[in-house]
Amino acid sequence: MKGMRGRFLGKLKSISSITSLTQSLVFQDNAAFNQYFETPILANDPKNEEIIGNNNMLVSKKTENHSLLVEFEEKCPPGGNDSVIFYTTSLRGIRKTYEDCNTIRFLLGSFRVLYDERDVSMHLEFREELWRTLGGRVIPPRLFIKGRLIGGVDEVVGLHEEGKLEELLCGIPKSPASGPCKGCGGMRFVLCQTCNGSRKVVLEEADEDGDTSLPISCVECNENGLVKCPVCF
Ligand SMILES: [Zn+2]
Ligand SMILES: [Zn+2]
Repeated sequence: MKGMRGRFLGKLKSISSITSLTQSLVFQDNAAFNQYFETPILANDPKNEEIIGNNNMLVSKKTENHSLLVEFEEKCPPGGNDSVIFYTTSLRGIRKTYEDCNTIRFLLGSFRVLYDERDVSMHLEFREELWRTLGGRVIPPRLFIKGRLIGGVDEVVGLHEEGKLEELLCGIPKSPASGPCKGCGGMRFVLCQTCNGSRKVVLEEADEDGDTSLPISCVECNENGLVKCPVCF
């Protein structure tokens, strides 16, 4: 693990140099930005000499990122078109699965990108949407970027070691530095206020014989007596 950490730190250094390179490019307006990134650059066009000469490295980086992402299978979980969706489990039953989730979470954290973590053990609906998206009973972790399946821990760590993960995450907004959500402490779910997490509610009205109704299932919360955090969802 120490060796791995060293490699991560090495990568972090290279990220900061790319960031400063990006920051040195300032566009006057949107049109200039679009022209820069979207117009095909012709090497023999004298107008483009300067662009190619000064920023050749960044241009090729951008083009590579675009083509790199399209190499991955188009599999888009709900709401995942433009974002990073990360399916995990917080159950420690299978140690490897739990550790694999931590490994990817650590990597995403080191790039400080905004991502949507969906813990299937907290919310059955997440597991069902993962299975629907992939057409089978898949075990987390699974990482999706902009509607494409990147893979599980082996794929993600492999891509990171080849320096490709940062390219795939290019253009993803940075995560806010304000720490975990105040509403849920980063758990993304809170205990249901209607049933206190018991999943059962007793109706108040008594029937003709004066017997109170049997408890019924709470409709406000999920199978674990949890509701999505109103602050961060
Ligand atoms: Zn409830
Ligand atoms: Zn929250």
